[in-house]
Parts: sequence; C-alpha cells; structure tokens
Amino acid sequence: MKEQLNSLRAKGISELNALNNADQLPEWYHRYLGRKGELTSLLKQLGTLSAEERPVMGKVINEFKQELQVSFEQRQQTLRENKLNQELEIDDLDVTLPGRPCTTGHLHLTTQTLRRIYQIFQEMGFQVYEAPEVETDEYNFQLLNIPEYHPARDMWDTFWVDDEVVLRTHTSPGQIWAMREYAPEPIRVILPGKCYRYEQITPRSEHQFYQVEGLTIGKNIRLTDLIGVMSEFAHKMYGAERKVRIRGSYFPFTEPSIEIDMSCSCEENGCRLCKYTGWLEVAGAGMVHPVVLRNGGYDPDEWSGFAFGMGVERPALLKHSINDIRYFYGNDLRFLQQF
Ligand SMILES: [Zn+2]
Repeated sequence: MKEQLNSLRAKGISELNALNNADQLPEWYHRYLGRKGELTSLLKQLGTLSAEERPVMGKVINEFKQELQVSFEQRQQTLRENKLNQELEIDDLDVTLPGRPCTTGHLHLTTQTLRRIYQIFQEMGFQVYEAPEVETDEYNFQLLNIPEYHPARDMWDTFWVDDEVVLRTHTSPGQIWAMREYAPEPIRVILPGKCYRYEQITPRSEHQFYQVEGLTIGKNIRLTDLIGVMSEFAHKMYGAERKVRIRGSYFPFTEPSIEIDMSCSCEENGCRLCKYTGWLEVAGAGMVHPVVLRNGGYDPDEWSGFAFGMGVERPALLKHSINDIRYFYGNDLRFLQQF
C-alpha cells in the first residue's frame, strides 16, 4: 500500500507540474483529491489493514493529502500569474503608464477678434446690442431707406426664406431695433452678428460672415465724431502708427456716406494685402439718414447720429496674414489650433 501511495504521489505531482493552463486544474483536483478521487479510494482500503497498521497508514495518507493540497494551491497561483502576464503582453497594456492628458479647446479666431472689438468699443462707452438673424424684408431693407424697387438692393444677394422673410444680409436692421427700443434717448451701441449673402464662395468672400455695426444717436453728433471714433478703433486694433483716411461713398441709410481706410502695415510700399495701394478698408460709415432716424422714432430736426459697419473675419485676416477666408469655417483643426 505504501508503494501504491508513493507512485501515486510521484504521478500526481508530475502531472500537476505538467499542467500549463489554469482551466485544467479542476480536472486534476477531481482526479486526485475529489470525493471519488484516487486518494479517497486508498483511504477506503484502510479498512482491510490490521489494527496496528491502520493508524500509521492513516497518518501517512493524511500527510500525503495535505502535501498534494499545498502543491495544488501553489500551482494554481503560478498558473494564474502566468495567465495575467500573458494577457498583459498580448494587450500591450502597461497599467503603470500615466493617462493621456485631455486636450482642452480654445476660442475660435472669430470669437477672439469679436471680443477684442467689444473691448475697444466698451472703453469708448458702447454697449453690445443683439438683433435677430432672421429678418423681415421691412427691417432688412424698407426701414433702412431701401424700398422694394430701389437699385441699392442689387448690392445684396439675399437668401429669401419666403416672400417676406430673409436671412439678414447685414447687421444694419439692428439699428432700427435699437432705435425703437431706446427712442427718444441717446444711443451708443455696437451690433455684432452673423450675416448671410447668396454669394459665390471665394478666398475673399463667404456666404456666411460676421459684421459689427455701430450706432450713435444724440444731439449735435457730427461726422468728426465718427472719424474720431473710427481712428481710435484703428489705433487700438492695429497699432497707434496707423493713419486713417476717409473717402466719399454711398449707402442708402446714411447721408453723407463714407468709407474709412487705414494705412497698411507695409507703410505705403505696397504689398499683396493692400493690393499695392498702401491702404486697407476698415469700415463703411456715415451720418444716419433722416428717413432712418424717423423710422426709428427720432425727429431728424432734433437728433443726429452716425453708423458704421465692418467685417470681423477681414480684420483677423489682416492681422494674421491669412490668405483665404474659407479657412475660418472649414473646421480644419490644423488651422484653428494656430490661434
Ligand atoms: Zn500693404
């Protein structure tokens, strides 16, 4: 019986060490240590032994059982660790590595430019006033002194929603909203927002773009006030060395109308940005037309005011020497991350 026991031990241990997969362990356990295992059947044979031999053999078998039990647990531990190491290698996962940092976004170039513009005009006492992007024909054209068959309508290629409703082609209808809200009090506001034109998209023009409109209404407001405000803006936005000039122009809602230019950074040597003229357009502007004043609820004999409108993408183009306006809304992160 002792020999039987020794051969069983040798066989059990060597089979246990030959296992290379934790899934095979239960089967081994069942075969040697289970209720119907080989060890149990040996224990059952104890009854055939003499009264002297029985306790001696019983002790030996119990020690053997414990030995197998300990070996089994060690082997189980080893195989589990191997399995984990294998999985880690296959997944190429190093749990000790630090996590990837989250990338935070930043403000779009247009928003940055808008905020700079707000800041400059706020310093001059202007408030920001927001008006609707979807407008009626009346606000977008008629109240701004552009009647239905006025030739000036050709200046705006319009997205029509229906016969009466348009996507605003300029921020100027906001002038009427602001005047009708504040009349008869003085006004000093800027009106920023998106505008839409049914236009061919080119490096110089988009069908959607931002404008900032400005409106001042008061008593004894003069053209020189307008020129002073726009000069201050150009100096703060682009640098104190910039010179400002005005040219006569035409807009239906201002009288007289002017264009405001400022000297280019090439200092009149000429470059591609200024098309070799030495000057860059900043804004269209003028004194608010008496018809528009009246439509807004102000008596033109008593009140006067100036208005201006400028692009937002274009100043950013100029400032950063960007050669294509389509980058702004193309959503290419390689472009946006630069600002
Ligand atoms: Zn230039």
